[in-house]
Amino acid sequence: MLLDGRVALVTGAGSGIGREIALALARDGARVGVGDIDVAAAEDTVSAMDGAPGSGMALNMDVTSESQVDAGVAQLDEAWGGLDVLVSNAGIQHIAPIVDLDYAVWQRVMKIHLDGAFLTSRACMRVMRRRARGGAIILMGSVHSKVASPLKAPYVAAKHGLLGLARVIAREGAADGIRANVICPGFVRTPLVDRQIPEQAAELGISEEEVISTVMLKDTVNGEFTTLDDVARTAVFLAAFPTAALTGQSLVVSNGWVME
Ligand code: NAD
Repeated sequence: MLLDGRVALVTGAGSGIGREIALALARDGARVGVGDIDVAAAEDTVSAMDGAPGSGMALNMDVTSESQVDAGVAQLDEAWGGLDVLVSNAGIQHIAPIVDLDYAVWQRVMKIHLDGAFLTSRACMRVMRRRARGGAIILMGSVHSKVASPLKAPYVAAKHGLLGLARVIAREGAADGIRANVICPGFVRTPLVDRQIPEQAAELGISEEEVISTVMLKDTVNGEFTTLDDVARTAVFLAAFPTAALTGQSLVVSNGWVME
């Protein structure tokens, strides 16, 4: 097991990619704090760990709440004696052209992705420094950390911003053995993506099938969605990687949609 004895926090782990990563970390032996604004969903993820070598703890954590983030991280540190891995994953999407975009929506998307990544990273870095055994910080970017699509201005801006944050964490964290990297998935079938298929179809005036084939998967090498398992394996790899040879990087996991 790659992560035996490690303690991890995954945010937005009640659904989709975060849930799959939390389960994968537990399968590899980690004790996992399952943070989500939807506590029932977080508890369900913990139940799904039944039988895994690791274990889980559901945390009521809105990543935009400084007090909830700090309290959740302190709870993990007290219960399990430290914190070794953060996967800052909670996120939302909103489909609209800039000219129709409410300022409040812009702020909400930026807040969950960027403020959430900052607050969780800060809280975890403080514990990692105090415990002096290093750590891995993984921010959930996107292909939209690298390229732009119409109708997703705050999402694309926030996902680009995460690259900068990870690079600063990599530089500041190095002295304490803290590594920071970004995973950049292509489209993965989760509730976040399923919701936007009809929304994009309506905005673009095309069918849902066309959204999938001409918008979402057009530039992949094989016309296939990236899977939950693809992303979870990447997270385990980055969490377990032993040295600072891999820090400040972003890894695109997109079936070739973006090659760099
Ligand atoms: P999802 O909607 O399935 O899950 C998101 C989870 O985050 C939900 O459980 C939700 O309750 C939680 N959440 C929302 N706001 C929160 C908050 N303020 N605090 C804590 N939890 C909150 O979405 P997903 O597709 O699994 O996306 C997860 C991450 O992966 C996001 O950052 C997203 O941008 C990124 N991503 C997704 C895709 C994709 O194709 N699905 C591609 C690239 C990147």
